[in-house]
Amino acid sequence: MPDYTLIRSDRKTLALEIDRTGALIVRAPRRLSRAAVDRFVESRSAWIAEKQRLQQVRASAVTPAGGWDAAVWYRGRQYPVLRRQVRQPAFTDEALMIPEGWTAQRLRAFLKEECRRLVAVRLPVLSARTGLCPTGFHVTEAQTRWGSCSGKNSLNFAWRLVFCPPEIMDYVMLHELCHIRHKNHSAAFWALVAQFDPDYAAHRAWLREHAALMELF
Ligand SMILES: [Zn+2]
Repeated sequence: MPDYTLIRSDRKTLALEIDRTGALIVRAPRRLSRAAVDRFVESRSAWIAEKQRLQQVRASAVTPAGGWDAAVWYRGRQYPVLRRQVRQPAFTDEALMIPEGWTAQRLRAFLKEECRRLVAVRLPVLSARTGLCPTGFHVTEAQTRWGSCSGKNSLNFAWRLVFCPPEIMDYVMLHELCHIRHKNHSAAFWALVAQFDPDYAAHRAWLREHAALMELF
């Protein structure tokens, strides 16, 4: 049974909440017995574990106490951000070096442009492999989905894809390319995705587990 903090009030129902530190808070009616609360918590233990895991990813994803420029996610890894006397930002194996005067907005714009560059390089390769040709693509501010495909077969990708590992970016691009043929999530659609990305289920799971990346920056 997970540890929890119990908060009683005049409410009529039980509710669970995971706070920013990953701690479980249970809100309960004043008179409900502790045993009933325990049974409820026990019955939701799988849900709680999943939420706490997500919160952990979120916590490690959000820039540490040092502020927005302490570390950034890029291609599935976190890089400490170092301010140096450089003209252009540059990744080393260990860190991202940025010019000393850069603001959060500059860094964000750089990462968004990186996403555009990476998609521009990779999308034609995947298009050639699948024989599915988009009319173009845009990198967007979307925070509810990683990609989409318009009725005119123009593809949209959330710029925060730049945080994800290369194989995850590939999966999202393949997914949207497959929507050129199937404008739905039918069995035929998923069969087509599987043909080009046999590990797509694992890639979808990775995105679910890292949903918090959507809220960074
Ligand atoms: Zn889709």
